[in-house]
Amino acid sequence: MATAKVPNKKRVCPNCGRKMVQQFIGLKHCKCGMSWKKDAGYFERTPDMVFALQRQASGRKVKQRPVIRHKDG
Ligand SMILES: [Zn+2]
Repeated sequence: MATAKVPNKKRVCPNCGRKMVQQFIGLKHCKCGMSWKKDAGYFERTPDMVFALQRQASGRKVKQRPVIRHKDG
């Protein structure tokens, strides 16, 4: 059985205390509008934010990582 190096703790929203729901690996959302991104930490989601999954070549493997885009206009 494989064990992860970092325990996958359930992230709780710092704003309202509810459990955050994972949308992608490294990206979680809360119903109240808070989001968490692995390398950015907690931030407040705005209506112009678009969340997507981007493929990134890492050696021979292709990793998928969440990216935040902003709608323009
Ligand atoms: Zn919340």
